[in-house]
Amino acid sequence: MDAVEQTARIGCEGLIRKILGYDPNADIALIERAFAVARDAHASQKRDNGEPYLTHPLAVAGILAGFRLDVASIATALLHDTVEDTGVTYDALQAKFGRTIADLVDGVTKLTRLELQSDRTKQAENFRKLVLAMSRDIRVLIVKLADRLHNMRTLHHVRRSDRRERIAHETMDIYAPLAGRIGMDRVKTELQNLAFAELETEANSTIQARLNYLRGQGADVIEEVRLELARICREAGVALIEVIGREKSPFSIWEKMQRRNVAFEQLSDIMAFRVLVPSREDCYVALGAVHAGYPVIAGRFKDYISTPKANGYQSLHTGVTLRQPRNQKIEVQIRTPEMHDVAENGVASHWVYKEVPGEADGTQDPGVNTVISSLRRLRWVQDLLEIIENSAAPDEFLENTKLELYQDQVFCFTPKGQLIQLPRGATPVDFAYAVHSQVGDGCVGVKINGRLMPLRHELQNGDQVEIMTARGGTPSPSWERFVVTGKARARIRRHLAQTQRETHLDAGRAALARAFRREGVDGSEKVLDAALKGLKCASRDDLYVAVGNGNLAPKDVVRAAYPELRQGGRAPRMIPGLQHPATGRAGAGPGGMALVGLGAGISVHFAGCCHPLPGDRIVGIVAQGKGITVHTAGCQTLESFAATPERFMDIDWDYESVAKPGSNAGARAGPGEIHVGRISVIAANEPSMLATLTNTAARHDGTVVNLKIVNRQLDFMEILVDVEVRDLRHLSSVIAGMRGTSGITQVERARA
Ligand code: MN
Repeated sequence: MDAVEQTARIGCEGLIRKILGYDPNADIALIERAFAVARDAHASQKRDNGEPYLTHPLAVAGILAGFRLDVASIATALLHDTVEDTGVTYDALQAKFGRTIADLVDGVTKLTRLELQSDRTKQAENFRKLVLAMSRDIRVLIVKLADRLHNMRTLHHVRRSDRRERIAHETMDIYAPLAGRIGMDRVKTELQNLAFAELETEANSTIQARLNYLRGQGADVIEEVRLELARICREAGVALIEVIGREKSPFSIWEKMQRRNVAFEQLSDIMAFRVLVPSREDCYVALGAVHAGYPVIAGRFKDYISTPKANGYQSLHTGVTLRQPRNQKIEVQIRTPEMHDVAENGVASHWVYKEVPGEADGTQDPGVNTVISSLRRLRWVQDLLEIIENSAAPDEFLENTKLELYQDQVFCFTPKGQLIQLPRGATPVDFAYAVHSQVGDGCVGVKINGRLMPLRHELQNGDQVEIMTARGGTPSPSWERFVVTGKARARIRRHLAQTQRETHLDAGRAALARAFRREGVDGSEKVLDAALKGLKCASRDDLYVAVGNGNLAPKDVVRAAYPELRQGGRAPRMIPGLQHPATGRAGAGPGGMALVGLGAGISVHFAGCCHPLPGDRIVGIVAQGKGITVHTAGCQTLESFAATPERFMDIDWDYESVAKPGSNAGARAGPGEIHVGRISVIAANEPSMLATLTNTAARHDGTVVNLKIVNRQLDFMEILVDVEVRDLRHLSSVIAGMRGTSGITQVERARA
C-alpha cells in the first residue's frame, strides 16, 4: 500500500466512524464496496490542486455523513463521479450495488452533464426547474449539492479564472437557491458566501474589513450580548438550552445593503442570535423576555411557528436594539432544537437515521436491511406529509420539496444553450416551433444529443436538440398527428389550409378555363367578375377555390356567366362540405396500407432489416433511383444515413384512408392487404415445434411465409419467423398466441 492509498484508506475509516456515530447498524460493507470501486475508478486521476481525485468523493461523502444521511446517499456520493469520469457503467453499478444506488448515481451524473451546457444562468429559473425535474429522488439533489459545496470550497485551486467565475455564477444562481428551496439553509449560506467571494472580490473584502473594525470595538461584543440574552431569559424563568451568537455572513450583509441602500459606515446590523429552548411554549415565553429586555424594532417580528414557511421552517424572528452605548441592532431567532435541525439541514434532516422498532437486534441479513431502508424511507415520507399538512402553503411546499416536480414538462437545450420549456410528450417539431415559426416550418430532421432521431421522438429532460432545416421547407401534414403544443398545431393547420387553398385555386382556374373552352364562349376575367355576385363569391380567387375544392361545378359557373346557355333551368349547385381528396396523400406500400407524406407515383419498398408494419412509427429514406425505403423509426440502419439528412422523408401510414374506405387515397390500400412482420422465437428443440409454430400463427389468422432456424442447441432453438399480418396489432396477437403455447419460451418481434 503506497502513501496515497494509505491516506485514502484513513479517509474512508474516518467516514465509517462518522456514520457509525449516528447509525450503529449501518451497512458498512456497502460503504467499503463503494469506496473500493471509487478508489479503483479514480486511481490515476488528480484534482486541480494535485491531490488524488479520490479525496473529492470522500469529502462529499463526509459532508453527507455530517447531515446524518442514509448509507445509500453516502455510497452514491462515493460513486458520484465514476460514471462521468471513468469507465464504470450503469449496469456495472446495478450489478454491484442494486438499482437504487445505480439510479441515484445516474441521476447525479445527469445533473453533472448539464453543467457542461453554456450560459444557462441567463435562464436561472428554468434551469432550476430542470434540475428539480431531473432529481426525482431528492437524494440526487442532496448529493449534487454536497458535490457543489466541496467544489466551491476548493474553487481557489481551479486555475482558469473564467472557469472559476462560471462555476461561482452557477452556484449563486442555481444551486444556492435550490438548497434554500429544500430548506438546507446552512448549505445555501455557505454556497452564497463562497460564490460571493469569487464574484465580488472587492465588496467582499470591504465588508470583511468593516466587520473586523466592528469586532475591534472593545471586547467580544457577540459574547457579551450572548451572555446578556441568556441572563434576561433565565431571569424571566425560561427553560433555556442555549444562546448562539454569530456574525451575519458577508453575502447576506451585502444583499441587505443593496436592498436598503445602506452605506458601509451605517452598517450596524451584523449580529444575529439564536435562542434554543425545549418546547414550542418556551419559545413564546423567551420572546416575551427578549421584548421586555430591549426596545423592539418595528416590523421585524415574525411568527413562523404558528405559520411555518413553505419548506417547513419554523422559528420566531424579532429585531431589537441594544442599549447605549452600543445602540446596535440585532436579530434574534427563537426555536426548539428540532426546529433548528430543520432550519440547518432542511429536507435532509427528515432523512436522518431514526431507530425503527425491532431494528436494534443487529441483524446483518441484506434482505432485512432492504426492508428496513424502505421503512426508513416511508418514515421520511410520513414526516414530509406531516409538514405538508401543517404547512401554510402546501402547494408551494410540494413544489419546493417533493420533487415530483415539473413532471408534466420537459426542458431541452438549443445548441447555443438556450433552455426551452415544453409540455411532456413534446417532439422535435414542437421544439422547432417553440424556437421560431420559421424553424418549425423548415424543419426536416433533428439531432438529439448529437444523434439523428425521427421527428416523432419524444424529448427528454436535458436533451440537446439541433433542428435541421431546409430553406423554403414546409410543414408536413403528418406532423399534426404527433405534435402536442398549440403553437405547432396551429402553424401546421394554417399552412395546410394555405397550401390547400393554393392547390384548389390552381385546380379551379384550370377547370374553369376548360369548361369555357368546351362551350366555345369567352371565359375572361371580366366575364367571371360579372358572374361573382350570382354565385355568392366575394372575389375571383374565392370562385377558383370553390371550383377547385368541389363546392361549385364548372358548368354552373359557365351558366351563371351565360344564362342563355342554360338548359333545363338548373340553378347553380352548391355541394357543401365535399373535400378535395387528393391533397398531400399518395403512394402506397406494395400491397399494403398507403402512406402519407409522399409525392404521387413514388415507388415504395419496406426495409428487410426492420419490417415496418402499420402502427409502427416510420421514416422514409430516399434510395437513389429506387424510390423510398421505409424503416421503423427506431431502426439501427438509420444511423448509417446520419450524414445525409436530406435523404430522410417524414412519412406515416395513411390510417385515415383505411378508416374512410370511400376515399381514393392510396389506391392499393384495402382491408384485406398484408405486410410481413418478423418474430424471433426461442422454443424447445422438438420435432413438432415448427408445425406448432405455423399452426399457432394460423390460428391467429397469420400466415407463415418464411422460417429460419438461426441457432440450434441440444434442448432449444432460436427461430426467425416471417408472418403475413395486417398491422402491428395483428402481429402482437400472433406473438401473444405463441407466448401462450407450451414449449415456446420466448417470443419477441425481431429488430435489426
Ligand atoms: Mn464531483
